[in-house]
Amino acid sequence: MTEVLVVGGGPAGAAAALRLAQGGAEVTLVEREPAAREKVCGEFLGPDAAALLEGLGLSLPCLGAVPIGAARLASGAREAAWALPFGAWSLPRAVLDEALLDLAAGAGARVLRGAVVLAAGREGAEWCARLAGGTTLHGAALVLATGKHELRGHARAKRGGSVGLKLPLRLAAPMPAEVVLLPFDGGYAGLQPRPEGGANLCAALHAVESADAPSLLARVSAGSDRAGALLRGAEPLLPRPMAVAGVPYGFRHRDGAAPEPGLYRVGDQFAVVPSLAGDGVAMALAGGEEVARAILSGRPAGEFHAALNRRLDRPMRWAGLIARGLDRAPGSLALAARIAPALARLAAARTRLPGFSAA
Ligand SMILES: Cc1cc2nc3c(=O)[nH]c(=O)nc-3n(C[C@H](O)[C@H](O)[C@H](O)COP(=O)(O)OP(=O)(O)OC[C@H]3O[C@@H](n4cnc5c(N)ncnc54)[C@H](O)[C@@H]3O)c2cc1C
Repeated sequence: MTEVLVVGGGPAGAAAALRLAQGGAEVTLVEREPAAREKVCGEFLGPDAAALLEGLGLSLPCLGAVPIGAARLASGAREAAWALPFGAWSLPRAVLDEALLDLAAGAGARVLRGAVVLAAGREGAEWCARLAGGTTLHGAALVLATGKHELRGHARAKRGGSVGLKLPLRLAAPMPAEVVLLPFDGGYAGLQPRPEGGANLCAALHAVESADAPSLLARVSAGSDRAGALLRGAEPLLPRPMAVAGVPYGFRHRDGAAPEPGLYRVGDQFAVVPSLAGDGVAMALAGGEEVARAILSGRPAGEFHAALNRRLDRPMRWAGLIARGLDRAPGSLALAARIAPALARLAAARTRLPGFSAA
């Protein structure tokens, strides 16, 4: 019997396990991947993520992250560029997630790698997690941090779902230190430099007919003159884009009339911010830290969920607005950002967690 079971070792689960262990709890984290792995993610980290990571003991420059100082939006022949009102970074998730899990293990959390939780349920006052291979773990509380993946019996209430694709590239010319938003027919993409050179292309689409690298590059390139120029001669570094389907953008967990006692949801299992408009990693880290405080102080899950909902409300609403603009009127958005870059900077600041938007 452990005091707290954490299912999932992404930013939310790792931050929770780290803070719980530091607070003296006996915590077991179960992560299905045996080793560091790329994830579908734009890899843009804003000042909220940077500050939260610093608080946990990780420095983005020391991890080799690339600073991002500006943003650009291109649609058709229209284009706008503006300086970001804060410092931002680009760092591969394989590096970030591994560093967080190392910290959690170093603080005393038991970290099980390559172990898959098949199902979890309540038995009396305890939570039981059944692992592939037959082991069962028991805990007084369960932190659900499985990100994009549903756990049997605890799936998010979804409506629809988008497709996320990621394709690391070698570009014909080096990219400046900026994030470029590239709307196209059926979705939008973000492109930014990676630490080892090259760039990360990440796209959110309503649907995909074929998810091979040439069709993704052709689709994004057709969206704007800038995309065509940036991606001309680009060489995919993977045979196919990595993909995740059924992403419920805008989802927020709300407890029903009878919340399950001792089940705490964090990260993408609690809320899914529209990609490339908001900062899902920062929200996952903040939820992970907060759930540890809640469990250590005996705060019930329902109260924790309500408080986290209030904290995430502003970034969720602003990111939703920006994503709708990118989807429905990208040309007008580019024009507005060109005429009034101050507005673009304000919108970018509003997508950050309150209290973290300064440079
Ligand atoms: C297309 C796209 C682009 C994005 N771009 C950005 C961006 O640029 N910046 C940003 O901040 N956010 C971005 N996000 C969002 C970000 O990726 C997520 O918000 C963030 O990863 C959530 O963290 P998490 O810890 O909740 O989940 P995850 O990072 O998904 O981690 C969950 C972990 O749980 C493990 N797991 C799952 N099921 C089980 C199981 N049954 N047993 C054991 N382990 C399990 C998985 O292996 C995984 O490691 C993007 C998302 C998408 C889809």
